[in-house]
Amino acid sequence: MNLFEEAKTYIPGGVNSPVRAWGAIGADPEFIHSAKGKYLTTESGKTMVDFCSSWGAIILGHAADPVIAAVTEQIAKGTSYGAPTIVETELAKMIVDAIDSIDRVRFVSSGTEAVMSALRLARGFTGKNKILKFDGCYHGHSDCLLVNAGSGVAELSGSSSAGVPEAFVKDTISIPFNDFDLFRTVMAEQGDQIACVIVEPVPANMGVILPEPGFLELLREETTKCGALLIFDEVITGFRLCYGGYQTICGITPDLTTFGKIIGGGFPVGAFGGRAEIMAKLAPEGPVYQAGTLSGNPVAMTAGIATLNALKETNPYEKMAQLVDSFAKMFHGKHGATVNHIGGMFTIFHTDKPVKSFADAMVQDKALFGKRFSAWQSKNLYMPPSMYEAAFVSPLHTEEDLAGLL
Ligand SMILES: *Cc1c(COP(=O)(O)O)cnc(C)c1O
Repeated sequence: MNLFEEAKTYIPGGVNSPVRAWGAIGADPEFIHSAKGKYLTTESGKTMVDFCSSWGAIILGHAADPVIAAVTEQIAKGTSYGAPTIVETELAKMIVDAIDSIDRVRFVSSGTEAVMSALRLARGFTGKNKILKFDGCYHGHSDCLLVNAGSGVAELSGSSSAGVPEAFVKDTISIPFNDFDLFRTVMAEQGDQIACVIVEPVPANMGVILPEPGFLELLREETTKCGALLIFDEVITGFRLCYGGYQTICGITPDLTTFGKIIGGGFPVGAFGGRAEIMAKLAPEGPVYQAGTLSGNPVAMTAGIATLNALKETNPYEKMAQLVDSFAKMFHGKHGATVNHIGGMFTIFHTDKPVKSFADAMVQDKALFGKRFSAWQSKNLYMPPSMYEAAFVSPLHTEEDLAGLL
């Protein structure tokens, strides 16, 4: 029986996260049997070079030896205790040591949970309710962040999912990324009610889009001025672009930072952290409640520690950046493509115009994307099955792998 049809019998849409269904492609998704290094092996027996990298969660390549060794040892000692372990302290210390803005960190089980909890904390700390986000930035699927990403007018933001009451998103403002003037205006008018401004410092969920020079600085200035917290959602960028966050590179200090993906080494982990004075508001020290049965799970912590240790020791960032940079030079501005990239991540936008906002990303040639995606598939190159995603390399990828995309 067809694997996808069978999955659809028991699972809505056959998948446990919508984009995996290849809706943008109009073909059945590959089912993955196993993975090692840069390769995925499908249930249909194909071996493909993986540029999706579990949406950025995998950075060392699949089933990396140090991660497998550490996790195997931990699993034999039990998989969950619901009580404190030293591996939680160890991973927390690694994150605190790597990122100056973070004094303390709390672990959760997904990026969604990390962001949801950071927002509650920001509201609890500031005593204000409104949050400001940017169109096309994705911060997980919690109710108040599922705001229509297409709306350029702050007051007209609506819900973009059924089942989210209007009341839950009425305090969410969403405006275009890189729009200096609109941001200034909204902050001038509503800054006194805004608890936090949340941003992917390098958005990667509308495809990779770079912040214009001065934009993140402006966010820092304006939030400080009106007593709102600045939250960097580094679920993708954390430990992806350097050993630390994008904040380490751009030199801007957010109040809170969220993580996920890489810090779990391929296991379900999220985290949020920041200044001690803010983090002290969390239960049991403070009045902002937040909890989780599997939070700080020892197997996941162990995978995260092994991953970060390997990144620290091997420092593969320069190599990944060079790989992607030389590829981008070959493809960018040719063949109706705009390639945005930073470090080991990139997006091929199927348009010859620059892409600096969600609106720019929306004008791509969908038919061209469809053709390219099937060409890549036929060459056993596994790219993310959507035009609005980042592709990721590991230190194991080569120039030849990337040249295949051309
Ligand atoms: C993936 C992602 C999330 C959500 O993380 P999940 O683990 O999928 O819940 C949040 N923010 C950003 C920037 C992400 O890329």
